[in-house]
Amino acid sequence: MVKRIAVIEKEKCNPSGCGDFLCMRVCPINRTGEECIVKGDVGKPVIYENMCTGCGICPNRCPYDAISIINLPSELDNEPIHKYGENGFHLFNLPIPIFGKVVGILGKNGIGKSTALKILAGMLKPNFGKEEAGWDELIAYFKGTEAQLYFEKVKKEEIVISYKPQQVELIPKTAKGTVYETLSKVDERGEIDRIIEELDLINVKDRTLDQLSGGELQRVAIGATVLKKANLYVFDEPTSFLDIKQRIKVSKFIRSLADADTAVLVVEHDLIILDFMTDLIHIMYGKEQVYGVVSHPLSTKTGINVYLDGYLKDGNIRFRDSKLKFEKRLAFQEGEKEMLTSWSGIIKKFGTFNLKATAGEVHRKDVIGVLGENGIGKTSFVKILAEEEKADSGKVDIKVKVSYKPQYIDSSSNVLVANLLKEAMKYKNQIIIPLNVSGLLMRQINQLSGGELQRVAIALCLSREADLYLFDEPSAYLDVEQRLLISKVIKDFMEMKGKTAIVVDHDLLFIDYLSDKVMVFEGEPALHGEVHGPFGMQEGMNKFLEDLGMSFRRDPESKRPRANKLNSQLDQKQKKADKLYYV
Ligand code: SF4
Ligand code: SF4
Repeated sequence: MVKRIAVIEKEKCNPSGCGDFLCMRVCPINRTGEECIVKGDVGKPVIYENMCTGCGICPNRCPYDAISIINLPSELDNEPIHKYGENGFHLFNLPIPIFGKVVGILGKNGIGKSTALKILAGMLKPNFGKEEAGWDELIAYFKGTEAQLYFEKVKKEEIVISYKPQQVELIPKTAKGTVYETLSKVDERGEIDRIIEELDLINVKDRTLDQLSGGELQRVAIGATVLKKANLYVFDEPTSFLDIKQRIKVSKFIRSLADADTAVLVVEHDLIILDFMTDLIHIMYGKEQVYGVVSHPLSTKTGINVYLDGYLKDGNIRFRDSKLKFEKRLAFQEGEKEMLTSWSGIIKKFGTFNLKATAGEVHRKDVIGVLGENGIGKTSFVKILAEEEKADSGKVDIKVKVSYKPQYIDSSSNVLVANLLKEAMKYKNQIIIPLNVSGLLMRQINQLSGGELQRVAIALCLSREADLYLFDEPSAYLDVEQRLLISKVIKDFMEMKGKTAIVVDHDLLFIDYLSDKVMVFEGEPALHGEVHGPFGMQEGMNKFLEDLGMSFRRDPESKRPRANKLNSQLDQKQKKADKLYYV
């Protein structure tokens, strides 16, 4: 028999807006006089799963897209580990921390990662889809596996968790004081000075939290997590806002935490970094806000390839219709594109920071990725192109109108998304539908998650009239699939409108997927920056990686780039041939 679940997203459901419980009126079982959908206690409908035939009428008719009826793969005939009430979100299985290893979790947003982490931390008692269950049931469920050992420790209260939350930009809203004061308060190890040094926080240790950049806040949050004495460290997206150098450094730092008494779990969407940082991964699949399934642990290499493939051999489960593909790049050709603007000999001093741009031009329909460390003048340079800032010397040929999506998005306003995106509604097929923001229109900005806010901000930026669209870290808080999706939306929009996009991001794979050219910013953060390019992808990536001292190979199966181990045979060979990326 097919196992079917019916989930109603309560925050979307609006019985008075649909003409008084439309779903109840259209359900063929209800129409025969039986009760399949009934009015629940909290003024929302309840669907009895055992009565539902899965005809698909109610999810199709609900004007708020609040109902999902899912036929689960036959492998999921076990009860869920946890269910949020009647017709609520279902979570199947759990990721398992392993002492001495860094275990990654890879999956879409909204499919139960936080629920799983809360259960692992002992903060949420799993209920196995019933009213109540206990640790003993969980221990019995995982009998004979690593998880049994782990939950025995949870039961005996021997697991102490330290958790780094996802949205670090919210930290200054709740914590006050300087970096040093903040870290001192949580320093159970007495290692504050070492951690400050390892995480490059010396220069900002006397600054207050509200004066920090996103990358600095991220490192403070990681520092605070590690200073607590724990035996399970959980990092929810530890590399957002960090530049690539910092990402690699933080990855090594996180790896070093795992030992015989300490387990580490990481949720990360930058695949190059996930690959670099973890020993094993669990894939999570399912439907956002409806159900989530955690796979068995897989080796990181296999797990990432399986994820891109969308197919789990073990269980014969296809969890995505299409594969996520990375192709070899063809040699770059400029073609006949019309020039948008050009610059030469730009020099600009911002306080103690000096910016230099020799010469370059951008064309209509270009999508240009920008690579470089944080604090090296990327945003300032675009402001010069828009003549919002005047260069001390040199010239910009044509002033361009710029639409800008900032790195940090203010999430405090109570404005309705629909009001903010009025202009974007003109581009329903180009912006609203592909960015999947239709379901967010009736929500307030301050009710959105990090990923939802990011998609709204991208939609808003695209909806403004401009020549040049600048996106600062559009990948932050988006999962892998959303990252690839917004790449396509940005590319298609520039092509359709004959406009140009400049995208600053530190996820190399995302930049590779999105851009036709790259600009490379070199220099020293907060001191000086030099703008090079735009170059063709191969030339630009080589230039960038040369400075970083890294090389990448292609995974033969998925064609995704993987970082070579420093000084490995392949690393040396590629460096000698000056082919640091596209081999
Ligand atoms: Fe109306 Fe949809 Fe809610 Fe049913 S689920 S009451 S159709 S809004
Ligand atoms: Fe009724 Fe189930 Fe059909 Fe919905 S899918 S209308 S609940 S039988």
